Amino acid sequence: MDRLVCYDCGETYPAGEAARCACGEPLWFDTGGTEFSWPDASDGDGGGVRLGRDSLWRYESILPASQPGGLAAAAGGTPLFRAPSIEPSDGPRIHLKIEGTNPTGSFKDRGTAVGIGRLDGPVGTVSHGNMALSVAAHAAALDREAVILVAEDTPDSRLAMIAQHDPHLFRVRGEYGRLYDDTLERDLGVGFLNSDAPLRVAGQKTVAYEICEAFAPDAPDAVVLPVSSGGQASGVWKALRELDAAGLLPSVPRIYLAQAARCDPIARAFRRGDSRVEPVDGEPTAAVSINNADPPSGTRALAAARATDGGVVSVSEEAMLAETDRLAADAGVSVEPSCAVATAAVRELAAAGEFGPDDDVAAILTGSGYNYGPTEADASTVREVDRADVPDAVREIVS
Ligand SMILES: *Cc1c(COP(=O)(O)O)cnc(C)c1O
Ligand SMILES: [Zn+2]
Repeated sequence: MDRLVCYDCGETYPAGEAARCACGEPLWFDTGGTEFSWPDASDGDGGGVRLGRDSLWRYESILPASQPGGLAAAAGGTPLFRAPSIEPSDGPRIHLKIEGTNPTGSFKDRGTAVGIGRLDGPVGTVSHGNMALSVAAHAAALDREAVILVAEDTPDSRLAMIAQHDPHLFRVRGEYGRLYDDTLERDLGVGFLNSDAPLRVAGQKTVAYEICEAFAPDAPDAVVLPVSSGGQASGVWKALRELDAAGLLPSVPRIYLAQAARCDPIARAFRRGDSRVEPVDGEPTAAVSINNADPPSGTRALAAARATDGGVVSVSEEAMLAETDRLAADAGVSVEPSCAVATAAVRELAAAGEFGPDDDVAAILTGSGYNYGPTEADASTVREVDRADVPDAVREIVS
């Protein structure tokens, strides 16, 4: 696994030499071979570290890295369960993949774990969100230097979350968007694990391995996930291609991507019938983790949706916030609005007749609401009460 390949034109490159193909599209690792089969139940428990559950290292044979210890040993292996309480009537069975149980609360830990397992020396990223938290924490766990480049307007509360892991934290003035390519293209002596870096995509494909293994020898009818840079969507597509090549899928699940309507470059390209994603002028949205107007792997993500006969859905701000509340109140799962677009999209697709009651849909809830910072409490659920009145107040509720 020392070769990178372009999904689009097929050109190959030695690993580490480039992040982009000469044609402009992003590269991913050439996993080679079609001999993969589901590992034995006892495999992948962290390589000697007892975790009490499997981690993504269960799939080490198809990863371009080996398990480095630290937090990386605990990445992946997240729960998947059916949530009938949020299923629309006459809609599909919805299975929630809870990525918020990763060590730093999002799926970004998968890509970080594989990246830090492969690279020596300092690691870095361009992010003030979940990816920054993840890289800073994983570096701390392995006593590595971390370089985190955040945008100038990053709120202090966000900086404090990242800073607790003691990385080198730079607040960058100037055109922040350009840093993404700057850091991937220049040799700065730091292994930058940006959103769609090949190592990150390799780690992130394990979420789809886990979903498909849970259904094996069957397969879900569809996988629905939020999309920003397109890194995770690329990983999911790569996993499905690999599992299909290995003969482990009776049929290939359709990939549906969900975006916030206020910033939806991939959905717009899908609706236009284009095969290339163009930048848009996005508006601010509560879905801060997927607010990307010029996604570096957007065209590849679009290709994933098209190649699997899936689609791309824009979710209104209102539907997204209602879905965030629904997941917390009815399924017990706290997520950011950025994650809730996934099940909101399932609801819209069911209403449009794309899913029916015989379908199994896996929705990836990419991150935890507990990382997202305080939002206002729903006033109707809070009651002021004197200590002496607590017994009566409680009895009133249960009677
Ligand atoms: C990063 C992130 C995404 C988007 O993932 P991409 O790989 O950039 O498309 C979605 N949800 C959450 C919670 C994230 O942190
Ligand atoms: Zn190419």
